[in-house]
Amino acid sequence: MDVREVHGGPAMMPPFQCQWCKELVTPGDLMHSLMPGYHYACALRVTVGSIGHTQGTCSCFVKDGTAEDDPPGLTRRQAAQLVADYVRQQQSPQPGRN
Ligand SMILES: [Zn+2]
Ligand SMILES: [Zn+2]
Repeated sequence: MDVREVHGGPAMMPPFQCQWCKELVTPGDLMHSLMPGYHYACALRVTVGSIGHTQGTCSCFVKDGTAEDDPPGLTRRQAAQLVADYVRQQQSPQPGRN
C-alpha cells in the first residue's frame, strides 16, 4: 500500500472537522493524501477497521470476540492512532523477514 503522509492540505486550509473523530483537523496535523477529510490516523481507521479487526482479534476472526469496536476509554481519534501505529509497524521493514 503506497500511502503518503502530508502535512496540511494542498493549500493552507482553515481547520475543519474530521469526518471520523469529529475533532478539528488543523494545518499541522498529519493527513492522508487520498482522504483529505480525515486525520491521517482516522483515515486508516476508516480504511482498515478497528484495532481489534486489524490485529485479527475482533468478532470477524474470533467468534466470541467483542473487540470489533474501538477499545473502551479511548476517544475515536486515540483509537484511530492505535491503528495507524500498528499499520506503520507492519509496513516498516523488519530484520529477519523476507
Ligand atoms: Zn480524526
Ligand atoms: Zn472485524
